[in-house]
Amino acid sequence: MDFEISEKMQVILDMINEFVDKELLPLEPEFLSTEFVDMLPVLEEKRQMVRKMELWAPNHPKELGGMGLSLLEHGLISEALGRSPIGHYVFGCQAPDAGNIEILHLHGTEQQKEEYLKPLVEGKIRSCFSMTEVDMPGSNPVMLETTAEKDGDDYVINGHKWYSSSADGSKFSIVMAVTNPEAPPYLQASMIIVPTDTPGFNLVRNIPVMGHKGSDYASHAEILFQSCRVPQKNILGNEGHGFVIAQERLGPGRIHHCMRWLGICSRTFDLMCKRANERKISPDGKTLGTRQIIRAWIAESAAEIQAARLMTLHAAWKIDKVGAKEARFDVSFIKFMVANTMQRVIDRALQVHGGLGMTDDCIIAFFYRHERAARIYDGADEVHKMSVAKKILRSYQENK
Ligand SMILES: Cc1cc2nc3c(=O)[nH]c(=O)nc-3n(C[C@H](O)[C@H](O)[C@H](O)COP(=O)(O)OP(=O)(O)OC[C@H]3O[C@@H](n4cnc5c(N)ncnc54)[C@H](O)[C@@H]3O)c2cc1C
Repeated sequence: MDFEISEKMQVILDMINEFVDKELLPLEPEFLSTEFVDMLPVLEEKRQMVRKMELWAPNHPKELGGMGLSLLEHGLISEALGRSPIGHYVFGCQAPDAGNIEILHLHGTEQQKEEYLKPLVEGKIRSCFSMTEVDMPGSNPVMLETTAEKDGDDYVINGHKWYSSSADGSKFSIVMAVTNPEAPPYLQASMIIVPTDTPGFNLVRNIPVMGHKGSDYASHAEILFQSCRVPQKNILGNEGHGFVIAQERLGPGRIHHCMRWLGICSRTFDLMCKRANERKISPDGKTLGTRQIIRAWIAESAAEIQAARLMTLHAAWKIDKVGAKEARFDVSFIKFMVANTMQRVIDRALQVHGGLGMTDDCIIAFFYRHERAARIYDGADEVHKMSVAKKILRSYQENK
């Protein structure tokens, strides 16, 4: 294992960190007080700067117009960008587009690539991913009610989805729907491209999440598919292979999330340490940082972040070496470990800031609200813990 950062990568990381500090952090007051949709012009300006610096889409292959970095390298970039809630968007590597780009790249037909992949990588359009349903448990994704039935040359889609992140303003969604109800559970569903202007694609609302319904990229939609008709050529990969494709996408996607969360840890940890050093809490000028309990939080946070970071880099290194399938339990470990580390660090940082931490005058409350979801999406904590524990217990039975 070698996590040494090459000279070239260090130069890239320094450039990105400087860009985040100078160009993105100053936008935060606006980000916290207006809607995302109102920020699109200024964000496009920043995107142009990133393109000129040749740092656009670091995770995507060079032939698609990206930087062609390895998963481990992109992980380091994701950490740097995670310090700002708009980092990934400005650098063209935001979820769910990043995952949809991977799917289209690996499974799209030439026509699908021309029509959807090319403008998506260029940042000219956005997309969403619609799998989770209102009435079915997302934790057991084979239980889908949405169907895509063949009719002539088309699929006719019916179903009720929600939490399609960033659907508002998207050009298309990749929709998971049952096409083969008689097949074994993991071979029943397919991924189908559905342009959002198709009749029957009804965006009901942006769901209020932690008190905010959001807009445009920063939103999560409820969608009703009502006799929504798309050509059969809109299928991605083979019919019934929706879950096979989803599995490929999830491993690397979870590394991106974990490294972004580590960026959030790093940002909130910085804020916590600065506040501890500056906030005077007694007439003799003693600061919060002189108090033992605050020092304990700082030491614990530093150690937990370091442990979470090493585990994530190790999982990324393993995927790069032996593939996502072999590394799936390492990925499960980090998914719940890093999400919980982040939650503890954000919580301690908020506590150190007292009343200020609860306000939108600083970024901590935003992270506190929005990143709680990390323990739920891409596999809830409990689901990952169940699967690793099952494997561990089985190995003991086998040894016996
Ligand atoms: C901010 C956010 C963004 C999202 N973005 C998207 C998106 O873009 N596209 C999309 O399709 N979906 C998205 N989702 C949905 C997400 O994938 C689901 O919420 C998730 O899969 C959990 O499904 P559920 O909400 O139906 O919870 P349920 O499946 O009902 O589970 C509820 C809870 O039960 C517990 N649980 C579940 N299974 C087990 C078990 N086996 N053992 C013990 N406990 C268990 C867990 O604590 C879990 O949180 C998003 C969700 C959030 C919060």
